[in-house]
Amino acid sequence: MAKQIQAIRGMNDLLPTQSPVWQKVESIIRSSVSAFGYSEIRTPIVESTDLFKRSIGEVTDIVEKEMYTFEDRNGDSLTLRPEGTASTVRAGNEHGLLYNQEQRLWYMGPMFRHERPQKGRYRQFHQFGVEIYGIGTADIDAEVLMLSARLWQQLGIEEHVSLELNTLGDPAERAAYREALIAFLEQHKEKLDEDSKRRMYSNPLRVLDSKDQNVQALLADAPALNDYLGEESKTHFSTLCELLDAVGIQYTINSRLVRGLDYYNRTVFEWVTSSLGSQGTVLAGGRYDGLVGQLGGKDTPAVGFAMGLERIVLLLETLELNNDIAPEVDIYVTAMGDNCVVEAIKVAQELRQQLPTLKVMSHCGGGNFKKQMKRADKSGAQFALIIGENEIANNQVAIKPLRNNNEQQLVTRSELVAKLAELI
Ligand code: ATP
Ligand code: MG
Repeated sequence: MAKQIQAIRGMNDLLPTQSPVWQKVESIIRSSVSAFGYSEIRTPIVESTDLFKRSIGEVTDIVEKEMYTFEDRNGDSLTLRPEGTASTVRAGNEHGLLYNQEQRLWYMGPMFRHERPQKGRYRQFHQFGVEIYGIGTADIDAEVLMLSARLWQQLGIEEHVSLELNTLGDPAERAAYREALIAFLEQHKEKLDEDSKRRMYSNPLRVLDSKDQNVQALLADAPALNDYLGEESKTHFSTLCELLDAVGIQYTINSRLVRGLDYYNRTVFEWVTSSLGSQGTVLAGGRYDGLVGQLGGKDTPAVGFAMGLERIVLLLETLELNNDIAPEVDIYVTAMGDNCVVEAIKVAQELRQQLPTLKVMSHCGGGNFKKQMKRADKSGAQFALIIGENEIANNQVAIKPLRNNNEQQLVTRSELVAKLAELI
């Protein structure tokens, strides 16, 4: 036998048994963004490599080691998008959506990062994200967090996620802090792990969220960013906290939270769960007022987040909240004998037209009564419709309940639609 070709490591098929929970998550996302009046944007999966280098930053995990970069046939360097913000800004600038305007945008789709595959971490994964442009005040930071809180509530997981919040200040404040932090790290160089040593000059803030225990212990005495914040940054952050208090969204302030991407300023946040092991961040984001200008547009305030869909689906599965999903099929139409196939197909067609939300599967491929009933049962349908020669002769259809012991009943063809509308 020929050797089978396998999927690429870290890139998953989404099988029919899994799609209902994905569809549930996606439909809750769609209804939530619509409740806040956000508009969808779809951008290509491939972009110029420079876009991600210039936005995400050269000294970040993503650009240093995770991008799928290749030369196309023209010799141009292209990259499969590792995240959605850079593309959204690129598209916004290119189509004049951001210039002196407010935009509340959302997107959803696959992202690609060459990471070590493990639970909750894949090489193709999916993100839903929002990006808001043209509004610099803290109320919009609060709004995106309210939207995420609504998602948790609709998904039934609000008890299982918590919000961590921090502020990174503005670029000048961060630059001053950066100097102080580098000076501190230089004094303790011998205690740093290799990653931190490497980042000490290129991206010292990332040392703050080092996973190394010794480094974490050392950081207890490091200078605090909070001491370098100016009045405006402080007020922005305290206003955000007040707004979250006002709408009852709980949070913890985590002064070590810095996020892996370069473009953030002021507000940064993560929603985390303790139910997924080490891949516990389910949604992350913050303010990035400098990025639109950095990518060639007019300076425009911006805030956004990205949520990983795989981790949400895993969380729903772990909490066993993936079982209440409506079956794919309501009615399974059977034909008792070859002479009844035409009539059965006509009944199925009529039902789909008259009751557009009804899910009707018709039996194809023949088989005896027992076989057809087995398939009807397997389909998950509530009722089987039985169409045999007697039924056709009397202009009737038999409705057989599949999920309880209620009696089968005969109805006339003209009563069928009304009867099913009542039953389902
Ligand atoms: P992590 O610290 O887990 O690597 P990150 O800081 O790289 O996350 P972001 O770039 O902010 O994550 O992406 C936002 C969200 O997208 C994450 O919180 C996570 O839910 C999801 N995500 C990121 N990378 C992956 C991946 N490789 N596989 C699955 N989900 C991912
Ligand atoms: Mg990462």
